[in-house]
Amino acid sequence: MSEKKTEAIVIKGNESEAIVGELHSCSFSSTERMVRAGKLLGIAWLLALITAFIPIAHFFLVPLFLIAGPVMAFMKYKAETVLEKAHGVCPECSKTVDIILDPADKLPKRTYCPDCNKPLQLLYHNSPSKS
Ligand SMILES: [Zn+2]
Repeated sequence: MSEKKTEAIVIKGNESEAIVGELHSCSFSSTERMVRAGKLLGIAWLLALITAFIPIAHFFLVPLFLIAGPVMAFMKYKAETVLEKAHGVCPECSKTVDIILDPADKLPKRTYCPDCNKPLQLLYHNSPSKS
């Protein structure tokens, strides 16, 4: 079963103090990762089969999906934990915000406040700060 996790992170603005927020992520077991990867591979190879009937385009689409399928499936299998969102109070505008993260995102990450659009930095709570 996939496991939802919540960790403490630091949300930092450019001209304000760092605020502790929450990072929501989801981790998968190896069976689940296998299923996710298998689905992706199935879709890619199905697309390869479908595009085989499109004249001219099949010269590059079929090899593309045949090669991209296993590559993307492998990357999907390697992703043990995917980030979902960061939740906390924006240090710039003091509003509670949810920052939606890309599954491929890694912390530390620079992003923007969805409310006031000011640049923010997301860091792990206990990461050593550079001085
Ligand atoms: Zn803000």
